Amino acid sequence: MKIAGRMAKVSPSATLGLTSKAKEMKAQGHPVISFGAGEPDFDVPAPVKEEGAKALASGFTKYTPTSGIPELREEVCKKFHADQGLSYKPENVVISCGAKHSLYNLIQVLCEAGDEVILPTPFWVSYPEMTYLAGATPVMVPTYQEEGFRLTAERLRDAVTPKSKVVILNSPSNPTGAVLSEKDLRELMEVIVEKNLICISDEIYEYYLYDGSKHFCIASFGEEIKKRTFVVNGTSKSYSMTGLRIGYTAGDADVIKKIGILQDHSTSNPTSISQKMAVAALRMPMSYRADVRVLFEKRRDLMISLLKKSDRLKPFVAKGAFYTFCDIEKTGLGSDVFCNRLLEEKFVAVIPGKSFGSDKHVRFSFATSEKDIEEGIGRLSEWLKRL
Ligand SMILES: *Cc1c(COP(=O)(O)O)cnc(C)c1O
Repeated sequence: MKIAGRMAKVSPSATLGLTSKAKEMKAQGHPVISFGAGEPDFDVPAPVKEEGAKALASGFTKYTPTSGIPELREEVCKKFHADQGLSYKPENVVISCGAKHSLYNLIQVLCEAGDEVILPTPFWVSYPEMTYLAGATPVMVPTYQEEGFRLTAERLRDAVTPKSKVVILNSPSNPTGAVLSEKDLRELMEVIVEKNLICISDEIYEYYLYDGSKHFCIASFGEEIKKRTFVVNGTSKSYSMTGLRIGYTAGDADVIKKIGILQDHSTSNPTSISQKMAVAALRMPMSYRADVRVLFEKRRDLMISLLKKSDRLKPFVAKGAFYTFCDIEKTGLGSDVFCNRLLEEKFVAVIPGKSFGSDKHVRFSFATSEKDIEEGIGRLSEWLKRL
């Protein structure tokens, strides 16, 4: 069958691909340990579950406004004010079916053929594909492990052409775990304003921060940058609600309205019950976030210390998110071969860096138990010794 040309450049998601291969092997009875997961392993907070049960029992199961229930849009405004001191009105906020959907719709509304989207590389797998699907062109700008995988203002400036329209920032980053400092962001802001770019800031990992790192939202640095920034976030990572599919975007009201129109004719509203649950999630106390942080920092430390024992691995010490991006160049294997062999020979699943724009890295998720981290990295070390 002849398939539409717009699908030609779009590849399947490697993260989802390898995770499903690992799940299949597990189902066949193999002792699989997966570091593939792009989601937290803890349960949804109890008050959030209760809100979901209440919504279901009370029959809150009909269509809602396409852009989200007013209660949730208001709660999102309160969250931005409390966390970043940002003032948005509900008309600046649209709720979508996960942050991935938020990003997809935003890129559809902003970008078209002839536009360039600047992507600091390594990038999250879906950014290039979303760009292609809008007919626009991704422009990869390298960042380096020696520089903490941070995009510098200088490299951003060098990447700008008359066609540049958008730059996507993702701090804390998936896959690298890099966190942009306030200084980094202020320097980037100058280039963004000077070159008249639009900034998409994907802040889905904002609560996963280590070594005392702080999260800054570029939009909070003043009106000039705020009006050209779209902040994307959601409840998937912060509250372990990946399957409930709630994401949101805040920014210019005209663009937000267009996203609502796009949703009118595609998904309609995000799931009614999930929206109620998201309201409850955003009302969770600050202490909840601190607990999560402590748990994940311990796991990160354990994973890094075990990986560092092998002289052929050079793990990057993540400052945020829940991934270890690890240089595997000294093994002499490409990332696809590395991951497929490790899964087939030792039943350990990790994600090839190739899909994030670096074939000499692989990504380990540490959103898993300390017991699994010890067992899995142990198997990896054994395997490396015989390689
Ligand atoms: C997980 C993830 C998202 C999307 O999360 P949703 O489940 O769609 O809300 C967006 N950006 C990055 C960088 C992610 O890792």
